[in-house]
Amino acid sequence: MSVKLSRQSVVVSAVALAIVALGLVTISLMRGSDGTTEVASDKLTVVATTSMIADAVREIGGDRVSVKSLMGPGVDPHSYRQTRSDIAAMVRADLVLYSGLDLEAQMIEFFEDLKKRKGVAAVGEAVPVAQRIPYAAHPGRYDPHIWMAPDVWTFAVEKVRDELIAARPQDAETFKTNAAKYLSQFSDLKDYASRVLATVPKERRVILTAHDAFSYFGRDFGFEVIGIQGISTESEAGLNRIKSLVETIVSRGIKAVFVESSVAERNVRALIEGAAARGAKVEIGGELFSDAMGQPGTYEGTYIGMIDHNITVITRALGGDAPVRGMNGALMAVAERGAG
Ligand SMILES: [Zn+2]
Repeated sequence: MSVKLSRQSVVVSAVALAIVALGLVTISLMRGSDGTTEVASDKLTVVATTSMIADAVREIGGDRVSVKSLMGPGVDPHSYRQTRSDIAAMVRADLVLYSGLDLEAQMIEFFEDLKKRKGVAAVGEAVPVAQRIPYAAHPGRYDPHIWMAPDVWTFAVEKVRDELIAARPQDAETFKTNAAKYLSQFSDLKDYASRVLATVPKERRVILTAHDAFSYFGRDFGFEVIGIQGISTESEAGLNRIKSLVETIVSRGIKAVFVESSVAERNVRALIEGAAARGAKVEIGGELFSDAMGQPGTYEGTYIGMIDHNITVITRALGGDAPVRGMNGALMAVAERGAG
C-alpha cells in the first residue's frame, strides 16, 4: 500500500471504514456527542452541518424527524473539518444537508464522495444565481452567507422542505404545513427589520464586523458592510487592512464596530486600538451571530432569534430605535447587555 495517500483516498477510506464499522454492530442505542442517548426509531434521521439548517429541519420535520447539527454555537464553518463521530453520524443518517456555496470549504471532498452513496444536498445552492452575491475575487463563486437575509434564506428552507418530502413522501402534507408556518415568521422578521433598521440615521448605516458575513443583510436592508477579513475566515487580515480600516473609521466617524460569535475578536480589538491612537473613540456595538446560532434551548439558539438579535443589536448600537428584547420580547442577551 502506498504511503502517500491522497486526501481524496483518505476521505473515501474514512467513509468506507465507517460503513464497515456500522455493518458489524447492530445498533439500537447510540450515544450522541451531547451525551444524550438516541433511541433508534422510525423517524427520518437527518444530519445538518450548520445550526441554521438544523433549525429548519427541526421546524419543518417536527416529530417525524430527528436532526443532528454538526456545528454548535461559536463554531466557524469555513474552517470546520468533519470528526470521526461526524462521519459515523452522516453515514448512518437517512439524509445529509449542508449549506454549500463553498461555506464548508474543508468538507467538500467528503460530501462529493458521500453523494455517491446516499441522499446529500447543498441547500444553499437552491438560491437562484440572480439572488446571490458574486465573490469578487473568484469569478463564478458566490458569498455563502445566505441565511443573513430572510428572503434569500427562504430558498434554502424550501429546499430543506423538498428534501424531507423526497425522503418521506408519506409526510409531505405535514412538512408543507410546518414549512408554511415557519416561513410566515420570516415575513414578521423582515417587517421588523425594515421597520427598526429604518430608524438608524442614514450616515450611520455601516456595519463593520470581523469578517464579511453581512453582505446579504446589507444589500436587503440598505446598509454598507465592511468586513475586516474577507468572505471566508481562512485568510488572516493583514496589517495594511487594519491600517486602512482605521483610516475609514476616523474619516467617516464610525462609532461602533461588531464582534462575531464564531470569529476571534483580536482584529476588532486591533481596530479599536488603532482608532484610539488617532484620537477616535470607537465602541464594540455588541456581538453578532454570523455563522452560527446561539446556545441550544435559548431564543438566540433559533434562526428567528439569531436574526432578531442581530437586527436589534445593530439598530440600537448605531443610534436607531428597537425594543431591547427584540421583536418577540424574547431576547436575553440584548437585555443583559443593555443593563450592563
Ligand atoms: Zn462566514
